[in-house]
Amino acid sequence: MTTQLIDTFNRKITYLRMSVTDRCDFRCVYCMDEKMTFLPRAQLLTLEELAWLGRAFVELGVTKIRLTGGEPLVRKNIVQLFEELGQLPGLRELVLTTNGSQLSRFAHALRAAGVKRINISLDTLDPERFRQISRTGQLEQVLQGIEAARMAGFNRIKLNAVILKHRNHQEVVDLVQFAIDRGLDISFIEEMPLGETGRDRAEAFYSSEEIRRDLERQFTLVPTTETTEGPSRYYQIMHCQTRVGFISPHSHNFCDTCNRVRITTEGQLLLCLGQEHAVDLRRIIRAHPGEMGPLKQAIIKAMSIKPQSHSFHPGEQKIMRYMNVTGG
Ligand code: SAM
Ligand code: SF4
Repeated sequence: MTTQLIDTFNRKITYLRMSVTDRCDFRCVYCMDEKMTFLPRAQLLTLEELAWLGRAFVELGVTKIRLTGGEPLVRKNIVQLFEELGQLPGLRELVLTTNGSQLSRFAHALRAAGVKRINISLDTLDPERFRQISRTGQLEQVLQGIEAARMAGFNRIKLNAVILKHRNHQEVVDLVQFAIDRGLDISFIEEMPLGETGRDRAEAFYSSEEIRRDLERQFTLVPTTETTEGPSRYYQIMHCQTRVGFISPHSHNFCDTCNRVRITTEGQLLLCLGQEHAVDLRRIIRAHPGEMGPLKQAIIKAMSIKPQSHSFHPGEQKIMRYMNVTGG
């Protein structure tokens, strides 16, 4: 099916990212404030509403859905949602971004539900540093989760690392070696200015270029034209299976080829991660229960306000939404 979702810059929207909960068992320094207050439950989309939305988007031509959060795997009965979405005809890829803490429990069920690829966040291999960055997480639990995912037989596992100067920038080579040793891919992410975290983001900025230079002292990186329909630019590590991606919202604007939209935990359709353009789909679903028509019309109409690009600058605090609500 060709997508019915085309914006005013002629970009085809085929990829939906849904934040299925704003809650999380970690409080990563770049994502949340130490004392976060979470949304009242009535404001969150129910699992049924999330499934309904997923169906509407797939019927309109979306072929890839990523569930993210917050931490998707802390939402009660979340596997049911994966199972429902996994059965939608037309959906080619159902994927997940997770902090890995619950994967030992869920990896097999997710694989059985039709999840083929999975992204696991891992910023450091040092237990003490892991504790400092995540505030409440334990490295060992995540490493066990990564092993469980490897055993469950996903087609591809990718690690995601947000790199902050003086916190974990000195570990980029070790992180790539960890990925190589286990046949995984890895992407490095520049920090984005979403939500007030009480930190100076400009001071912690470490660019993809700097990371690439650090890696090239140790590895040979061969540029590839490969894409996973996401914003990463990929390099193959010579003589290895591992690919290294760079997600560089500051230093490399990837908006020209943007093919995605997001649903926040509260059912706002976000047309761009770095802008405030949004449409309240929860209101439409609740005003027209069981009716696909009004929902699909609202989604199609929303394409006309998708902005051309984001405009992030290091240190600039522009978007008040936190990443966990938005869905990273
Ligand atoms: N809890 C899951 C996790 O950590 O993978 C999924 C949600 S998290 C918001 C998704 C991704 O966004 C993670 O890889 C995380 O490291 C990244 N992230 C969070 N806040 C960020 C920020 N301010 N800038 C860049 N990436 C961020
Ligand atoms: Fe939780 Fe993921 Fe945000 Fe860390 S990045 S606080 S794991 S939602």
